Amino acid sequence: MAKIISGTKIAADIKNEIKQEVAELERTKGVKPGLSVILVGDNPASKVYVANKQKGCAEVGFISEEIKMPDTATTSDVLKEIDKLNKRADIHGILVQLPLPAQINKNDVLEAILPEKDVDGFHPVNMGRLVAQQECLVPATPSGIIELLKREGITIKGANATMVGHSEIVGKPCTLLLLNEWATVSICHIETRDLKMHTKDADIVIVAAGVPYLIKEDMVKQGATVIDVGINRITADKASPELLEWRKADFDVKGATLIGDVDYQKVEPKAGFITPVPGGVGPMTIAMLLSNTIKAAKRLSK
Ligand code: NAD
Repeated sequence: MAKIISGTKIAADIKNEIKQEVAELERTKGVKPGLSVILVGDNPASKVYVANKQKGCAEVGFISEEIKMPDTATTSDVLKEIDKLNKRADIHGILVQLPLPAQINKNDVLEAILPEKDVDGFHPVNMGRLVAQQECLVPATPSGIIELLKREGITIKGANATMVGHSEIVGKPCTLLLLNEWATVSICHIETRDLKMHTKDADIVIVAAGVPYLIKEDMVKQGATVIDVGINRITADKASPELLEWRKADFDVKGATLIGDVDYQKVEPKAGFITPVPGGVGPMTIAMLLSNTIKAAKRLSK
C-alpha cells in the first residue's frame, strides 16, 4: 500500500506559513500583498478558478481584485489594463486567466506583464531565468509538485524521474525544476513511441497528460512515487462499473466524478507514494500562486 500524499494538508500548511509572512511584511514595511486577476469573457470553468484564487487570497490576508472584461475585448484593451496594473504600487501580482478568447494574442498579453509581478511565471523572462537557475517566479503547478516531493522527504537528487507531458504550464517547467534538483529526467509526450519503457523503471513518475487511465500498474515499478496532475471529469454514462462503485457518492450527487491520469485503484497498491485526484496536486496550485505573490510583494517592497 502506498503512502497517500495529501496535497490538501500540505497546501493548508503552506497557507498558514504565508499568513505569518503577511503579518511580518505588514509589521515591518506596512505592505499588504495585492493580487489582481484579469478575467476576459464568461468561461464558466475560468470563473470558478478565479473565485478559488480570490478565496485563497482572503484566507491568507492578501488584497485581491478581479478585473472583468467582456469577451469582445481586444488585445489592446487587455494591454491597457496590464499597463495600469504594472504601474500600481499596491498590486504585486498580476495574472490573466487562460484561456483567452481567440481574437486576443496570448503571447503579447503574457509578455506585457512586468516579470516581477508575473505570479503565474509564464513570462519568457521568468521561463528563461528558470533555465538559467536564476531567481524567478516559477509556474505554480510544477513548483507545487516539487514542494510535495520535498515535504514528503522523497529524494530527488540522483533519482530517475519520468515526466509525462511537455506543456509550457506543467511538463516543461517541472522537468527543469527536477533537473535543477539533480534528477535524471525523461520527458514523454504524445509522440513518445513506447511510454511504458520510460515509466516502468522510474523512481518518480509525474503525469500531466489529461488522459484518464493512461498510467496502469504494469507501467510503474514497485515502490515508485507517482504524482498525478491530470484532472478528467467522467460522467456516469462513460464510467466503468468499478468507477461507478468507487465514486458512488459523487455520481449520486453530481452525476460525474473527477479522476486523474493514473489508474489509481490498481497503481496505488504497487506505488510507494501516490497523490490522489482530487486532493493531491490540485490544492497545491493555489497555495503556490499565493506563495509567488508574497514572494513578489517582498521583493517589490525591499
Ligand atoms: P496540455 O494538453 O497542454 O499537455 C498535455 C501533454 O500530454 C502534452 O505534452 C501531450 O503531448 C501529452 N500527452 C497527451 N496524450 C498523451 C499520451 N497518450 N501519451 C503521452 N503523452 C501524452 O495539458 P496541461 O495543461 O499540461 O495539463 C495536463 C493535465 O493536467 C490536464 O488534465 C489538466 O487539467 C491538468 N492540470 C491540472 C492542474 C492542477 O492544478 N492539478 C494544473 C494544470 C493542469
